[in-house]
Amino acid sequence: MNWTRAEGEHVVLYDFRESPALAVFDRIIGDLRAEIATRMGVDDAMAKPELFLVLNREDLRRVTGMEAAGVALSQHNALVVADRRNRPNRLLIRHELTHLMAAALLPAVDEPIPWVSEGLATWTTPECAGHSHRAFGVALLEADLLPTRAQLEGDFYALGDVYSYSAAASLVDFAVESWGRDSIPVLWQESLAGLEEWSGVADAYSAWIAYLGETPAKARTLDDLAAVTTCAADT
Ligand SMILES: [Zn+2]
Repeated sequence: MNWTRAEGEHVVLYDFRESPALAVFDRIIGDLRAEIATRMGVDDAMAKPELFLVLNREDLRRVTGMEAAGVALSQHNALVVADRRNRPNRLLIRHELTHLMAAALLPAVDEPIPWVSEGLATWTTPECAGHSHRAFGVALLEADLLPTRAQLEGDFYALGDVYSYSAAASLVDFAVESWGRDSIPVLWQESLAGLEEWSGVADAYSAWIAYLGETPAKARTLDDLAAVTTCAADT
């Protein structure tokens, strides 16, 4: 494949169909890197990432062999996103960029814990369609759609639905609301057991459920759930 390469201040952009809109993507990556680093509570010392733009999911599968709208290749500090449009999909880029930044800037782990990784990548978007991550958690609780602790920490990707991503984001949100951003590297390395040891809470999963149950009923709307499909896509 013949990629066109263009290097900006914040990103190296590759496109295989036409000249890439370097200035647009460079500004977006620069803005998102600063926002994500602040939200995760880390200094952005990551090397300039490479961003490969493909036209659609079919092209992405051809390039990466994976079935998704976006893929983060942490070992290569690279992103591949199906986003060759005039208006870049910030939500998608933010999600994949969070995967890269978490791998580069949080304490090293052999393999990311899936629910923590996807929860973080969903959570770094401050809200979705006007709804907070807490509101999504409450709506999922009310609809009996929250994964159990065993499902969350087991084969997370086998859950195979967008709700699991929003549930994971709500749990990250709960940890940060309760214990601050220092809880993020703890979850990243050791999941809920690490959080329990570090914070002293006896059962972090049950504490999350109780926290959602105490939230005022006005947050519990079907709109909250409908928006999940647009904001927690399969990325
Ligand atoms: Zn993801």
